[in-house]
Amino acid sequence: MTDRKDELAKNLAKVERRIADACAAAGRARDEVTLIVVTKTYPASDVRILSELGVRHVAENRDQDAAPKAAACADLPLTWHFVGQLQTNKVRSVAGYADFVQSVDRSKLVTALSKEAVRAGRELGCLIQVALDAGESARGERGGVAPGGIEELAGLVAAAPGLRLDGLMTVAPLSGEYAGREQAAFGRLMDLSTDLRRSHPAATMVSAGMSADLEQAVAAGATHVRVGSAVLGVRPSLR
Ligand SMILES: *Cc1c(COP(=O)(O)O)cnc(C)c1O
Repeated sequence: MTDRKDELAKNLAKVERRIADACAAAGRARDEVTLIVVTKTYPASDVRILSELGVRHVAENRDQDAAPKAAACADLPLTWHFVGQLQTNKVRSVAGYADFVQSVDRSKLVTALSKEAVRAGRELGCLIQVALDAGESARGERGGVAPGGIEELAGLVAAAPGLRLDGLMTVAPLSGEYAGREQAAFGRLMDLSTDLRRSHPAATMVSAGMSADLEQAVAAGATHVRVGSAVLGVRPSLR
């Protein structure tokens, strides 16, 4: 094994252990939780190694980095998740490689995603990103729609050609009433998911939890955790 492969294998094993322990502690089966490795800022060569190590879900948050990486890894059996704030002028590119867009947070984006999914002849799984730091009607600082806006957006996604409504996503808020209270934040997301599934029973995905708080997300009931630095290493500070 190369040094990098060895390092990633060790990190993956640690994360796998954490997920398994969190599932056991919550009385959940391990297969109720899917690991998505967030490969942003890391090269396609790392994605390739992760695939060799058995990773099947990867996520990216910037189209400029993700598009060439996905193209370089098109031969691998990977499911690609887009998890970043998405501008409508990037939607055509993202619809070409993403299997899931987890950051759907406004109607304009739904319209653009639908149009480009149809054009590409693809079906995109959509998660509505919920901002738990926003007021009931505002939008979150890091993207996301306030809880009060979920239902309307869900209806739009469900009715849009080329799109499939799969569930909800959130990032633990840094400000507002849930700051520092990850478990409560993820619990709130689960309640919102329960509400959503009354009208959209197939929208079962709940994407929550990152390197620092995956245990709290699993405890709350998340179906997908998005883990970056605990697998790939601490990213050099971005912007
Ligand atoms: C970067 C990122 C993650 C992973 O964060 P880590 O702390 O590196 O695990 C998860 N979700 C989103 C939306 C991200 O942008």
